[in-house]
Amino acid sequence: MSAKIINGTEIAQQIREELHREVAELKEQLGVVPGLVTILVGENPASVSYVTAKQKTSHELGFFSIQDSQPADITEQKLLALIESYNQDSKIHGILVQLPLPKHIDEKKVINAIDPDKDVDGFHPVNVGRLMIGGAAVRFLPCTPAGIQELIVRSGYSLDGAEVVVVGRSNIVGKPIANMLLQKAPKANATVTVVHTGTRDMASHCKRADILIVAAGVPNLVKPEWIKPGACVIDVGVNRVGEKISEKTGKKIAILKGDVDFDAAKEIAGAITPVPGGVGPMTITMLMANTVRAARFAGRQ
Ligand code: NAP
Repeated sequence: MSAKIINGTEIAQQIREELHREVAELKEQLGVVPGLVTILVGENPASVSYVTAKQKTSHELGFFSIQDSQPADITEQKLLALIESYNQDSKIHGILVQLPLPKHIDEKKVINAIDPDKDVDGFHPVNVGRLMIGGAAVRFLPCTPAGIQELIVRSGYSLDGAEVVVVGRSNIVGKPIANMLLQKAPKANATVTVVHTGTRDMASHCKRADILIVAAGVPNLVKPEWIKPGACVIDVGVNRVGEKISEKTGKKIAILKGDVDFDAAKEIAGAITPVPGGVGPMTITMLMANTVRAARFAGRQ
């Protein structure tokens, strides 16, 4: 039987509608309008398109929103001073610095300069530590892992007691999602295994997974025979494998593939995310959710 296709665009839209209501409530009850600044250094085309999409969504949700574009040759010192000015700005609740940054700027220093309570990407070491501790300590969940968790839960899969296998151990996807799902908490409480290039027999681990999360960046890494029948498969990978002409615009666009052999996997899995249209649309939405959360905290103080 063919798997249920988990529609990330639809689930993201659902969450945006919830956020829209929450923004109105915040204005009414606390007189607070969520404020987000996106800082872009240089003109890397992928970064420009990510920042444009984040701005568009924040406007649609009724945020106070600033797009701050800086030249590629801005000094590290100037960028740190700019971040500090937004740390002090009470209209701004979320600060997002679009990565990657030009080579002459130390990304770690920049992330560390953001006030942890405005770090809506969830990359500041304080927020990474809060995530590890779990419970009430958590302020912001990093956006892609938060999106993955929502996709699983909103597709009707329970994480409580589930065998979860995560392929990949990056700081932005693999490690945080593993940490989140092993917490003794709602939408978690799973038994989590993380596999990577040092793992001896990846297939044997993947075959045990009720929920298989793949974030390696290797097209078709996960073979259909590694999937347990009925499993929920979340494919985070975004791999550009060629180009095609868009039917909508007539322009050249990238052909994207995930890390899972989708066509074969959907005949075995119980549910699976497509690429594109699975995890991707959730990431920006969860950034918006973090900004609303930051505004709520600020409004209570
Ligand atoms: P990353 O930093 O390159 O990490 C990849 C991880 O996968 C590493 O831990 C690596 O293991 C592991 N890995 C790579 N090849 C492997 C193999 N053959 N067998 C086992 N493990 C392997 O990547 P990332 O930033 O986590 O991103 C992963 C993918 O998700 C990329 O395609 C990226 O574009 C995509 N992504 C999508 C979104 C979204 O919003 N849709 C967001 C973030 C990332 P080692 O540690 O041993 O090297």
